[in-house]
Amino acid sequence: MTRFLEVQTRRREELVDIGPQVRDAIRAEGVEEGSIYLWSMHTTCALTVNENADPDVARDLVWKMGELVPEGERGFRHGEGNSDAHVKTSLFGPGLTLIIHQGEPILGTWQGIFLAEWDGPRRRRVAVKFSP
Ligand code: ZN
Repeated sequence: MTRFLEVQTRRREELVDIGPQVRDAIRAEGVEEGSIYLWSMHTTCALTVNENADPDVARDLVWKMGELVPEGERGFRHGEGNSDAHVKTSLFGPGLTLIIHQGEPILGTWQGIFLAEWDGPRRRRVAVKFSP
């Protein structure tokens, strides 16, 4: 069965901790051992794993991406005006695979699962699929 997470983002750019929703999906599916695939169904938001202990890490990622790929940079041609968001999305990538062990995703002590919003605020969907 394929599930879908709904994520409402609040700012143009932010990292949203979707760990609680991922854990809820694992519980709802009743998976104890296996793997979970997460797929962002968008071209201007991505998925990533990084530190969620200190919120400044997510802030720093957003800040640095803005410096590397500035919004409205001359040279972009895409008429929608959000080429920076498309570039940032490709740099981070659309999908994640996590291992489920004893009903929980295996993550390091400091790791969290984030949706990286690059052109919000929007309502986002993440497809979720489980595998044995
Ligand atoms: Zn666009």
